[in-house]
Amino acid sequence: MVLDAGSLQTILTYLTALFGAFLAGLWISLVFWTYRDVRSRTQDRLVQILAPLLVAVLSLPGVLIYMIMRPPMTIDEAYQHTLEEEALLSEVEARQACPGCGASTLPDWQVCPTCHTKLRKTCTNCGRLMELPWKICPYCGTLAPGMRTSGESTEGEMLAGRESL
Ligand SMILES: [Zn+2]
Ligand SMILES: [Zn+2]
Repeated sequence: MVLDAGSLQTILTYLTALFGAFLAGLWISLVFWTYRDVRSRTQDRLVQILAPLLVAVLSLPGVLIYMIMRPPMTIDEAYQHTLEEEALLSEVEARQACPGCGASTLPDWQVCPTCHTKLRKTCTNCGRLMELPWKICPYCGTLAPGMRTSGESTEGEMLAGRESL
């Protein structure tokens, strides 16, 4: 097959068109990517419009500028971050000072590891933690040992019930 000037011209035109289509596709996907990315990072309407516009005008260099300027965290990541910080804060708040030595203790500790002060007791029936002044387990209704606020019979029934287990 001999290539004359005419068919060479046709092939070149065809290749240029192909390349142009590729560039256009790339350009559109870059704008779309920026649009989706910026929406996941900010709720600012102006930024949501400006960022894809920047990429639409500048193309690849626009993407570079956008990636430098964009908010570092997505909204989801920022939300997770806030949750973690709040959990950390509430853990600090939940720490109580030991009445014996003043060391910070956690709400689910029974004994202070520093001075061995009893902080909480466990229910004799279900084993859940109870505050020391509590006379009755809030989870299963079992009276704490030595507490007879609602009469002998209740305690007796309870003991009988426990023995039969
Ligand atoms: Zn202590
Ligand atoms: Zn209980």
